[in-house]
This record gives sequence, structure tokens and C-alpha cells, in this order.
Amino acid sequence: MKHISILGSTGSIGTQALEIVRGHRNELIVEAISGNNNIELLLQQISEFSPKLVCVYKEENAKRLSELVSADPCIKDKPEIVSGMEGLIKVAVYPGSDIVLTAIVGMIGIRPTVEAIHAGKDIALANKETLVCAGHIIMSEAARCAVNIYPVDSEHSAIFQSLQGNPRRSLDKIILTASGGPFRGRKREELEKVTLADALKHPNWSMGQKVTIDSSTLANKGLEVIEARWLFNVRPEKIQVVIQPQSIIHSAVQYDDGAIIAQLGTPDMKLPIQYAFFYPERPFLAGDRVDFFKLGSITFEKPDTETFKALALAYEAIETGGSMPCVFNAANERAVADFVAGKISYLGIADFIEKTIRSHKMVKDPGLDEIIRIGEDIMAG
Ligand code: NDP
Ligand code: MG
Repeated sequence: MKHISILGSTGSIGTQALEIVRGHRNELIVEAISGNNNIELLLQQISEFSPKLVCVYKEENAKRLSELVSADPCIKDKPEIVSGMEGLIKVAVYPGSDIVLTAIVGMIGIRPTVEAIHAGKDIALANKETLVCAGHIIMSEAARCAVNIYPVDSEHSAIFQSLQGNPRRSLDKIILTASGGPFRGRKREELEKVTLADALKHPNWSMGQKVTIDSSTLANKGLEVIEARWLFNVRPEKIQVVIQPQSIIHSAVQYDDGAIIAQLGTPDMKLPIQYAFFYPERPFLAGDRVDFFKLGSITFEKPDTETFKALALAYEAIETGGSMPCVFNAANERAVADFVAGKISYLGIADFIEKTIRSHKMVKDPGLDEIIRIGEDIMAG
């Protein structure tokens, strides 16, 4: 029996995690959840999963949810409802939980993740922005506290799966696959007039808004290179990004003898979420299977880092190290928010990342407070 906390239970990853719980009622118990704006969904989740603790980040939404819960006669065991950063941390360290799924979006997840590690919780990590900003702290604290970090990002789960049963000392390189997003094959001039609706049309995956936009600019792949650097302790030059437009090969590793081991499957986040919950077991998961005859072919391309320069900038940020990956992430978070708000153009996202990286003086080995301050300064502009 596993007891879980979910940071971001109302999001794309959070709701798919709850689908997994539905299929494994005797093995998984939801103890604590969090959301921000979607209080109707939180109310439904409380009715269905009876968590004991619920955080609604925005205080006014937390008050509204408390009223709804109190007035609902069908909710017999009323959960404790908390808010703000303090509330997120309470969910992360909830004493009854063994594992915390970090499915919140953005670097707001840094403190709750570190607190969960300090409380001895295993982490099912979807919230890549946190690891990009504070990977040096999170990985060393996880080792110190003997906590496991299970990747949920599909590529990193594929790498993790491909590493099973093989000696780590023989790992030669990581092959990180990318779909290429909706604008694969286009040149810069063709992207000048891209709208929010265009950027949200991902060819293969259905995901939250920010990660979908990040996938279209390849900033997501940049974040994933940095994420892989921390999760698997490999140098950035040992991480090769390969475009695989059908999203069937979720990533691979190459060993010293030349063998490449990959994980393949249909594009469905429920597999990596379930693997993180049940590792090393592989219980049944309903869904489509890959049919090689229907698929016909799997193709490969080199990423175009001139058009999609966010990927090249991510390599630059991780090579520079220190505070620079955090700056890369924060600049991207800010630029995506500005693009969504109609304040900057689509190409302006990568331009803003570039400008911000160039003007930042790298801080070596920044502490947690410094990382958060640097991130918040960039967000506040
Ligand atoms: P969504 O936008 O769908 O969900 C985000 C969740 O975080 C929601 O529960 C939302 O609450 C909550 N949230 C948003 N902002 C805040 C805030 N300021 N304070 C507290 N809670 C907040 O995101 P995804 O599920 O797509 O992504 C979650 C993470 O997983 C991201 O880091 C993403 O990169 C990563 N990931 C996602 C994949 C996917 O397939 N979706 C694939 C691989 C990685 P509410 O909705 O109630 O406002
Ligand atoms: Mg991914």
C-alpha cells in the first residue's frame, strides 16, 4: 500500500495520476492534494478520493472551497484546507504520505520539493522547472536523506527504464528524443506571426498550457537536457537530442559496447506516472499498444537550433552552470507568461531568454534562497 501526496492534482499530470489511483484502489491512497484556480475539480476530487489535507494556493479560492466543502452533506470526512506556500509545504511533508508527485507547474515547486525530501518522502518528479533551477541542491539532498527520485517526464522515465539492470559505469550517452512540436521544419521568418492557438496544437501529446508552448519552442527539450544532467549525473555533451516525430521512442541510452536500449510506447503519460508509483513493478495499464505494422516507420532528424534557439541556449546555460540554468528557466517562465498575455511575440520568447542569460552574471553554487531570489527577480522584471 502506498500513500501519496499530489502537488497540482487539478492539472494534466495530476488528473492522470488520479486515473491511475482509480485503477489501483487497494494499492494507492491519496492523502493530500493541491490546486490553485480549479476549485470545482478539487471539490470533486475531495468527494471521490477523501484526502485528509487540501491546499489551494490562492487564499480567496481556499476560503471558497472551505465553504463548499462545509456545505456538502456528501463529504463526510471534511479535509483540512490550507493555502499559500505554507500550505503547499504541508501537502509535501504530510506525515501520512510515502511519496509526493510534484505535478505543479513552474519553479514555485522548489521549496515544497526540498521540504518533501527533508521529510524523507520519495519524489515522483514531473515538475522539471524545479530540478532545472535547483538540481545541484535537490540531488545532493535526496542522496543525503536517502530519498528516491522517480522521473515522471516521459523521456526521463524512458531513460530510467533503459538503465535498469545495466552497469551505470558503462553508460556512454543519453539519447533524448523530441517530437519537434507543431512547427518542426519551419524557419524563423515563418514563425513571426504564430498565435497562442497555433502554439497550443501539439501533434502527439495532450498536456498543460506551459509545457505545450515549451514543446513548440524546444525550450522544453532544453529544460529536459538540464533535467537529465541532474537526474542521471551525466555531462551535457553526453546528452544528444534527436527529433523523432512520431513520439514512439520515448528516449534511449547507449552503452560503451555500442548497444542502444530504448523504451517505446504510445504517447501516454499514464505509463511513466504509474511506473514512478509502482517501480519496479509493471502492473496492467489499459490503453493503446504500439502496432509496428500500422506505424510503418519511425524517423529521425537533427534539431534545428538556429530556428529553435532555446535548445542551444539551454546547453549554454548548463555548460556555464551555477545560477545560469535557473536564469534560463525563469526567463522562459516569464516569457511564456508574457506571450500568453499577448505582451510579446512568439519569437520574443527565445529572444527574451537570450537577452536575460547574456546580462546575468553567473553565481557559483547558489543556495536555495539565492536561487529563489534570482528567479523571482526575473519573473518580476
Ligand atoms: P497544468 O498546467 O495542467 O497543471 C498545473 C497544476 O499546478 C494545476 O494543478 C494548477 O492548479 C497548479 N498550479 C499552477 N500554478 C500554480 C501556482 N502558482 N501555485 C500553486 N499551484 C499552481 O500542468 P501540467 O500537468 O501539464 O504540468 C505539470 C508539470 O509537469 C510541469 O512542470 C510540466 O513541465 C511537467 N510535465 C507535464 C507533462 C504533461 O504531459 N502534462 C509531461 C511532462 C512533464 P489549477 O489548475 O487548480 O489552477
Ligand atoms: Mg517530456
